[in-house]
Formats: sequence, C-alpha cells, structure tokens
Amino acid sequence: MKLPDSAGHKYGPESTQRKNMIKQVDRTIGYLRQRIRESGLESNLSLIITSDHGMETVIKTNEIHIQTVANFTFKDIQFELLDYGPNGLLVPKEGKLEHVYSVLKNAHPNLHVYKKADFPRRFRYANHSRITPLLLYSDPGYAFTLSGRPTNRWKCFHGFDNEAMAMKTIFRAVGPAFRRGLLVEPFDSVHVYALLCELLGITPEPHDGDLEALRPMTPPTPPRRPFSRQPCAPVVRSLLGLVRP
Ligand SMILES: [Zn+2]
Repeated sequence: MKLPDSAGHKYGPESTQRKNMIKQVDRTIGYLRQRIRESGLESNLSLIITSDHGMETVIKTNEIHIQTVANFTFKDIQFELLDYGPNGLLVPKEGKLEHVYSVLKNAHPNLHVYKKADFPRRFRYANHSRITPLLLYSDPGYAFTLSGRPTNRWKCFHGFDNEAMAMKTIFRAVGPAFRRGLLVEPFDSVHVYALLCELLGITPEPHDGDLEALRPMTPPTPPRRPFSRQPCAPVVRSLLGLVRP
C-alpha cells in the first residue's frame, strides 16, 4: 500500500492528509483480517504487517546545497545522484576522487561523506557493484537540494541513518507460523526476506538477512508450507502478478 508514503512526502508525516491515508490503510487491514476470519482461514493463514521505512520531515532552512561548497564543481563529476533527499551517489572523473572527497568531507556539519570501502556497515548498502565510489548522507532533518529537481517540492524523506528513531518501522505477525502474544526486541528488516522465503518454502536468492534472528517468533513445529521448495524469482513474480502462476 503505497499511498501513506506519497502522502508523507507531499504533505508531511504529521499532516491530516497522511493521517487520513493511514486510517484508510488501517481500515483495509481490518477488512482483510475480518474476511480471513469469516472465511475460516485463521488457523491456516499467517499474516505479516510491516513496511520498509519511517519518514522524517526536512526543514527547508536545513537544505544542503552541494553546488555551493567551496572548490566543488560538477566538472569533476562523471555521474551523480543527489536528488533523493538524504542520500547522494557520486562517480568522480578519473583522478578526481581524492579531490572531490577532500572538498566535501568537512563541507557541512550535517553531511557525511565516505569512500565506498569505509561506508558504515550497519547501512548494509555499499557492498554492491552498483554502488558508486563516493557516498553521501545527511543527518535527519537535512536533505540535499539541487535547484530544478522535482524532489525539491517534497517535505519529507526516508533513507536517513537506520539508527534514527524516525526511520524505524512496524512489524506485526499473526497466524499459525507465529507464536501468540510474543513481544520481541527490535530487529533489522533485512531479516524479513529470509523469514518470508522460509514460510513460503522458497529457496532465497543471496541476501544479507539471518533467519536465526527471527527464529524466536516461530513455533517449534512450523506449519505446512504452501509451495514445494523452488527458486525464488518465478514464485515472487507470480505473487506480484508479473507472470502467470
Ligand atoms: Zn518514499
């Protein structure tokens, strides 16, 4: 359900528009649970309610204007993605990496600049071939801005440090695959994929999660799997309606 996200970006997390959207999602989940009950599926169907991120308001006076940083010029940059709020990706031109890194490193007290190899591991982000040699992120409440980019209009973003409270999300689970009435300690969402694959009997693709981290949630005798074990991609794509099951 995408609408709380777009309403949050457009109007802010505390706005009436966003609260109305969350009420709508809440009613939808209520209806879903009601229909599961009425259909006699409660003892056979497990339901997970979660999301992929929180949301943080960006104060307009806190914008970080990269193009005004002393000695920084886009002439040194081969590729940039600097219009997604708190995250920036840079590919400096050949021989320019050290120079660009040094001019940005201490340019702003709420801007963090890393070479790919040094990026904090807790983000579980930089260890991928598609991630650029230089990475930037800003503190909660701050965002990069480049004039003329569409995201300038947004009031809120996600993608801040995953230790920030406003980036946390929810996780609720009910059904035969889960213990009843259990309250668990906070955990990284990166483990949820492994849990879904386990419950669906799907062989996961390579991932950073650890199924054991969520094992306390599941009963000692797991329920019968709905699918025979098979590679992930075709099943997930069929669930998403991308291919016929
Ligand atoms: Zn979003």
